[in-house]
Amino acid sequence: MSETENPHNVKCDNCSSTRLLAFYCQGRDCHNISYDGLEYEGYMIEGLGLYGNYGDAVDFQLCMQCGKIQGSFPKDDVDIKNEMVESEV
Ligand SMILES: [Zn+2]
Repeated sequence: MSETENPHNVKCDNCSSTRLLAFYCQGRDCHNISYDGLEYEGYMIEGLGLYGNYGDAVDFQLCMQCGKIQGSFPKDDVDIKNEMVESEV
């Protein structure tokens, strides 16, 4: 596990705007995630582009110009589902 999987950009990696909102919310083991019929509750999982503080938090940058969450997308469907199942508490 890493501290965060996300970049700390100065400019949006999609539109180059500097209007980036840094979002951080500590949920510990109470993150609720729904995806394609799967439900998950627990520590934040890696691979969604939202992971922070070793799974304790949601941590990302959102471009207020184009709406893109910073980082590498698309995320692979199978990887997301595997993370949700394997991380189940
Ligand atoms: Zn943008």
